[in-house]
Amino acid sequence: MLPTSIAVIVRDWLNANHILFLGPEENVLVDAGYVTHADTTIRLVSERLAGRSLHRLVNTHCHSDHMGGNAAVQRVFGCPIWVPEGEAPLIEAWDTRALWIDYAGQRAERFRFDAVVRPGDTLAMGGYEWQSIAAPGHDMGALMFWNEAERILISGDALWQRGFGIVLPGAGYRERLAAARSTLETIRALAPRIVIPGHGTPFTEIEPAIDLCLSRIAGFEADESRLARHVLKVMLSFALMDVGSLEAATLPQYLETVPLYGEYDRTWFHLGYEELARQLFEDLARSGAVLKRDGRILPAAA
Ligand SMILES: [Zn+2]
Repeated sequence: MLPTSIAVIVRDWLNANHILFLGPEENVLVDAGYVTHADTTIRLVSERLAGRSLHRLVNTHCHSDHMGGNAAVQRVFGCPIWVPEGEAPLIEAWDTRALWIDYAGQRAERFRFDAVVRPGDTLAMGGYEWQSIAAPGHDMGALMFWNEAERILISGDALWQRGFGIVLPGAGYRERLAAARSTLETIRALAPRIVIPGHGTPFTEIEPAIDLCLSRIAGFEADESRLARHVLKVMLSFALMDVGSLEAATLPQYLETVPLYGEYDRTWFHLGYEELARQLFEDLARSGAVLKRDGRILPAAA
């Protein structure tokens, strides 16, 4: 369903998918995965390159699961890094709060970018022209890449087969949710034949995927604290995938070290770290995302 010049390397939730475009002039990689798995990223990309050079790395947006491995990829392949224009100031300043790094208990290796991609730019990748389209919501500076001739959309975290990247609560959250909705309507209007998402396998059932996201957005708009709780659960399962496991008894202390949890608790829940830890674990265990074994909490996928 995809041209042979496009290799989609499907990863997991900690590492965004890599999309590798081969030739005719340049070999281009979209998104580099998480920092702690950069060796795997480099191995997977090297296998597909099979001795060819990598000429450019482009990010859909600058969250740690997409750009955490940028520095490692650049070290190995020597390629310039292109980031969305809206992310450039955050990367330049290495704003670990706005980039959801320390603030959310995530990690990434600092890198320097060489150029920016603007909404409306056209990129030549894999022998096709890709239009860069603003995809605000999950990340207000995010971009999607659209090939009109083949009707292929690289959606980043704006649309997955079952969901979309979290939108943070707090000041401006209505604008962010409205932006996420309008990005989904943009995708609907494009009417892609196939979507290559930031996570999960490429898919062709686009309308139901959009409708599911829109109904989730409506639920979050109706209840900001529900959105806040959802974000904490996503951030905690992400952190567990990063570290592999955590001693259950230390979960409250862990939450205390990561600013996001205390901030959200003080704003919406007023539970304290012990009770917040208990509830987050219960919620995640009930949904099958995490489990407890020998006194340790681990992601169910492990
Ligand atoms: Zn992502």
